[in-house]
Amino acid sequence: MTDTFYKKAQLLDQNDKLAHFKDYFVHEADTIYLDGNSLGKLPQKTIQQTQHLVTHQWGQGLIRSWNNHWIDLPQQTAAKIAKIVGAQEDEIFVGDSTSLNLYKLAFAALKLNEPKKKIVSDNLNFPTDLYILQGLIEQQFQGHSLALVESQDNLTIEEAGFAEVIDNDTSLVLLSHVVFKSAFMYNMARINAIAHQHQALVLWDLSHSVGSVPVHLNDTNADMAVGCTYKYLNGGPGAPAFLYVRKDLQAQLTSPIWAWFGHQAPFDFSLHYQPKQGIQRFATGTPSVLSLSAIGGGVDITLEAGMEALREKSVQQSEFMIELIQNLLVPYGFSIASPLDVSRRGSHISIRHPEGYRISQAMIKPQDGSKIIIPDFRPPDNIRLGIAPLYNTYTELVESIERIRKIVAEEQFSHYSEERPDVT
Ligand SMILES: *Cc1c(COP(=O)(O)O)cnc(C)c1O
Repeated sequence: MTDTFYKKAQLLDQNDKLAHFKDYFVHEADTIYLDGNSLGKLPQKTIQQTQHLVTHQWGQGLIRSWNNHWIDLPQQTAAKIAKIVGAQEDEIFVGDSTSLNLYKLAFAALKLNEPKKKIVSDNLNFPTDLYILQGLIEQQFQGHSLALVESQDNLTIEEAGFAEVIDNDTSLVLLSHVVFKSAFMYNMARINAIAHQHQALVLWDLSHSVGSVPVHLNDTNADMAVGCTYKYLNGGPGAPAFLYVRKDLQAQLTSPIWAWFGHQAPFDFSLHYQPKQGIQRFATGTPSVLSLSAIGGGVDITLEAGMEALREKSVQQSEFMIELIQNLLVPYGFSIASPLDVSRRGSHISIRHPEGYRISQAMIKPQDGSKIIIPDFRPPDNIRLGIAPLYNTYTELVESIERIRKIVAEEQFSHYSEERPDVT
């Protein structure tokens, strides 16, 4: 059976219009990388660009490089990201972390809708999103409450559930567009419409969707969004995040952090805060030039490939991976912890097994000369297999699933410890 899958994969790879994009990235011959949903690969171009920036712009240009190269970098990067998420370039700010941007926008939205006291999210959301809401309620908005719509199956959430929970007292709805564990994907337009019936604002976290599924912020009437650039956009570890506010809402929202880069004229050094008019009012301090510049390589590659083509390949690859899992892994005690309906799924697939952690260790640290396969592990028993259509091949998917099968069939995992490192 595995031979048939290898043949099928070979054909799919031969006919893959995006196949050449994998050569844009640094590749280790003995490694299959299935963790692009946590930290994307390094684009070749980023090495040269970063080296040039450090050596010439910083090393030789020093402070003169601010005016020559750096001051417009946030806006230039924003203009590119805007194209990827279906927004206007003056609706995107690039900088700070996703968590910080979430805080700024959630605070601003709650302030604008102050008399309304209900915040809505779901119990599949990423922890940082919920922590930020908890902190805001504890420290600033003490009469507010957080209502979590519960998933019935721990994988998906019916949008209809939101029609019951969102009411006229709801000020803010905060959701991850693609859920980090199961890869369930919300219908953004539907949630926006429900919220808008009650004059509630919606804040989308796009961290697991930007660069992996098409996002149409303007066309779906999205109010606000945040997202990260180090996952499917391949921007590098801790690369600056972005935030989006639709044009007509910008003037009504005030950042809770009144900092000089959000001032109308930072270099006038006035002692009184006057926020910028547009999206840049959400800027805080000096941009992180090195990591901001490193985003460019990955974002350019994404634009060159095109989100529609990337989604098409991602759908085909994840459907193929599901077929492989059903045939090769389910007989060995695995279950699929992602939606089977591809139209409701992002670009990663979660599988579960009671020995999930040790199996993931055996994948990463083979002792039998097999290729290294890098997934990630989310407790208690989820192995996440991230598919990055820019650089993963169909053959790699067969190799990976066959390798997992072997680890379990031969009980190779029993040689590994249950102890976990700091970052998984
Ligand atoms: C990765 C991720 C984040 C990361 O936030 P940071 O501030 O960059 O650490 C936030 N939200 C979601 C949904 C994520 O997947």
